[in-house]
Order: sequence, then structure tokens, then C-alpha cells
Amino acid sequence: MVKKKLQSIRGIHDGLPQEVKKWRFIEDTARKVFASYAFSEVRLPILEPTELFVRSVGEKTDIVSKEMYAFEDQGGDSICLRPEGTAGAVRAYLQAGLTRSGAQRWFYMGAMFRRERPQKGRLRQFQQIGAEYFGTSGPVEDAEILGMAQTFLDTLGIEQTRLEINTLGCSSCRPDYRATLLAFLETKKEALCSTCHDRMGSNPMRVLDCKVQTCQAALPDAPEMLSHLCAPCDEHFTGLKQGLAALAVQYAVNPRIVRGLDYYNRTAFEFITDQLGAQGTVLAGGRYDGLVESLAGPATPAIGFAAGVERLAMLLPEPNDNTLDIAVVALGEAAQAYALQQAAALRAQGLSVLHCGGGSAKRQFKTADRERARFVVTIGEDEMQENMLMLKNLNSGEQQKVTLTQVFNIVG
Ligand code: ATP
Ligand code: MG
Repeated sequence: MVKKKLQSIRGIHDGLPQEVKKWRFIEDTARKVFASYAFSEVRLPILEPTELFVRSVGEKTDIVSKEMYAFEDQGGDSICLRPEGTAGAVRAYLQAGLTRSGAQRWFYMGAMFRRERPQKGRLRQFQQIGAEYFGTSGPVEDAEILGMAQTFLDTLGIEQTRLEINTLGCSSCRPDYRATLLAFLETKKEALCSTCHDRMGSNPMRVLDCKVQTCQAALPDAPEMLSHLCAPCDEHFTGLKQGLAALAVQYAVNPRIVRGLDYYNRTAFEFITDQLGAQGTVLAGGRYDGLVESLAGPATPAIGFAAGVERLAMLLPEPNDNTLDIAVVALGEAAQAYALQQAAALRAQGLSVLHCGGGSAKRQFKTADRERARFVVTIGEDEMQENMLMLKNLNSGEQQKVTLTQVFNIVG
């Protein structure tokens, strides 16, 4: 009988060593940059009650209506794999009773799950690195968190992104705008796709960001939130732009940025690249002043963003895989124990060391080559007696007899 090899689920990929190197670099950079802005890391559950996302992200959104991995567990509870991080962060913030503890600055990293159509840069399990700033209404904090996102991308060495910002108004100016927009969309209804017809009933602003060409062609004269802002929202947006100018963060205002989740208001933004086709948004977010309240907390303004780790990774160069500092070659049985000890002592100095495992010298040197070690330490009877190591630089071919402590100065 031929046994069938099992495959991972469609749209769910393995993180193999080369890829994980990039992920680690992205995560380490996030930790460093976000800490410099006094944000603290949180680790939140992957499983959450389904209702959390129904109430926050919104029942009518694609994420909740079609893409959630939701199921009943053995106890009959409706639970799901989190599709995003903000709702869980707000839940945790409320559950921990932190609403009276002043502003909270959190960041997180981890897997998210959406049953989308898999494509390049669009997976069913993907990783996000996100940040949430609870308890401040901006616009100074909006500028700072955008500055933090920009610094994060700069520190990663990703230069090919542009920042687009918009404002989505608030509960006092949006209803009027929504009515104006809806009246306009009614006049274009025939040209719009069936998804947009649904959006007109649920969240008409999302029509503005429809990716269908014929829809976009019908919309150049659509009314914009920007020209329907109430005075406080207008002032807030001006304050954001002034803050960005002070920080020398380049941006363009794009009135079509509306975000796919229902909970956003005022500031909305995306960092976009042209290098990943339709999956060009690498980091996106916005203000969500009503979300804490809608999850039964006290009115608490907040702003946040999330970056797609796999998309960022696609913009990074292939990592240098020359991470092995030293390969240790033992000449003859007698040197074996001593070679094991020397390898351990070199590791204790912080070097990455591979013991080539004994056998013939030829086989061991082959291993050193294949593993692309920078240096080879050869240990034979002479070296043992003299308490020295033969160190060879595989790049230059240069060879010298050195003490254990000298190795670190040359290699480290
Ligand atoms: P998109 O417009 O690309 O679908 P989105 O608006 O659904 O993105 P958010 O929910 O704001 O995205 O998530 C923030 C970031 O997470 C995105 O900008 C993207 O980089 C990443 N992301 C979202 N969905 C996926 C996915 N299915 N696969 C890989 N990365 C994703
Ligand atoms: Mg999406």
C-alpha cells in the first residue's frame, strides 16, 4: 500500500530556518524600537470567544461573516482562532481592570487566522506585530505612534513604503457624511458590484475601498469624509499632520483609506509598497475611540496598528546564512574528548560552534565546508599537549596556533 504524504492546510505555511531568521530579525527589531517608545509586550490568547469579534470587528465585515475559524468546543462554547489582535487586547485591558491606571502602551506578536483565498502575501495563518495605545485621544499620540511605525520600518531597512493617511470622522460628523455618500452611491448603484451593494446596507464607506475596477471607475466624484468633518475632527486631523511634519514623517492624504474593520474613527493609515502586488499594505491601523465602550468598558480613546510579518519578510534581503563561527575537527580518537571540551569552552565565550563528529579528518573537513563555517579549529595530539588550538580562517586560508582565549579575539 502506498502511503499518502500529509500536507499542511492550504494557505498555512511552515516556517523553515531561512524564513524564521527573517521573522526573528523583524521581531527583535520591533521589540527594540517599541521599547524605545515605552511600549510593553503582552502575550494574549489565540483562542477567544467568537462573540468578541462579532461585537468589535463587526458582524457584517468579511473577517467575521466569512473568514473566521469558529467552532463549538466539546463544552458547546462558541470559540474561534483570533483573526486580529486589537479586540483581544481591549478585552484583556478591560479584564485586568486597567482603565483607571492611566494610558497603557502595549505591543504583541503572534499568529492570526483568516479563511481568505490564499495568494502571495495572503495566508490563512499569518503573523502580525501590533501596537495599541489606550487612554489618549491624540493627535500628538497619533503622530507618535505613526512615527514609531515609520521608525520600525526604517530600522528594518525597508525603504520602499509610502504612508497614506485619512480621517474617518467621528460619531457626530460621520452619520451626515454617510447619508450624503449613500445618496451618491444610489445614483451609481448599477455600476457597483454585488459586494458593494451589500456594503451600502452595512458600511457604505467600505465601497470607497472596493478593489473592483468598475467600482473604482464609478467613484471619482464620490463625496469625501475630509470635506464633511466637524470642527473637532478637523482640528484633530490638522494636529496629526503638524505632528508628522515635526517628526519629518512623509505622508500623503488618501481619502479612500477606510480600513476593513468597523471600529475605526478619525485617524486611519496604511504603509503601502508597490512591490507586493495587490497585497501591498504591510502595516495598517487607526484610532478606535468607541471600541472599549462597545465591549462594555468606560469610554476610552485608543489607537493602534498591526503589521504583517510575512509581507515585511518578503521585502527583506535573503539573510546571510553564514552563522557558524567555528567547526571543530578532532584528529584521531585520542583527541575526541579534548575536542568536545574545547567546543564547549568556545561556545561559553558566545561563539557558534559545531563539533564535526569524529571519523576521518577528510569527512570532518567536508562537514566544515558544507556548513560554511568561518573558521576551523583542528585538534590533534600536538595541540592537546601544548594546550593550544590550530585555527584556520576558511576565507583567507590563513592558519595559526593560538590559545583558547585568543580564538575569541580573532573570531568574535
Ligand atoms: P488587506 O487589505 O491586505 O486584506 P487588511 O486590511 O485585511 O489587509 P488588517 O486587518 O489591517 O489588514 O491587518 C494588518 C496587516 O496584516 C495587513 O496590512 C497585512 O500586512 C497583514 N495581513 C492581513 N491579512 C493577511 C493575510 N491574510 N495574510 C498575510 N498578511 C495579512
Ligand atoms: Mg483583508
